[in-house]
Amino acid sequence: MTKLLNLPGVIVENSKETEKTLILSVRVNQKTAVCPRCAQTSHRLHQNQGHLVRDLPIGDREVFLKVNRRRFKCENCHKPFSETLDFVENKKSFTYRYAQAVTEQVIHRDVSNITETR
Ligand SMILES: [Zn+2]
Repeated sequence: MTKLLNLPGVIVENSKETEKTLILSVRVNQKTAVCPRCAQTSHRLHQNQGHLVRDLPIGDREVFLKVNRRRFKCENCHKPFSETLDFVENKKSFTYRYAQAVTEQVIHRDVSNITETR
């Protein structure tokens, strides 16, 4: 499953499939995070925050990633912060590549619409 997902540094721990959807519980292969305020690397896990993000479909199934965006507590400035993930923007409910694919589809659709109306 990890190979199938093809996101570097992301490990699939669990999967749950139904007829139309595939939910993959993923974790990031990294034990530390860098504080956005002071750039100090933190090892102190503060809390776990799970949420679902939409990813590219595999076959006929819609894919959702159950992501644990961990919150760390900075050892230097003692402020909690959320880790930054490579594949999904903060507070977004879809992955970068999903957003990109949708944008490309829209562009293709626009192009074919133009061709059809001519
Ligand atoms: Zn800090």
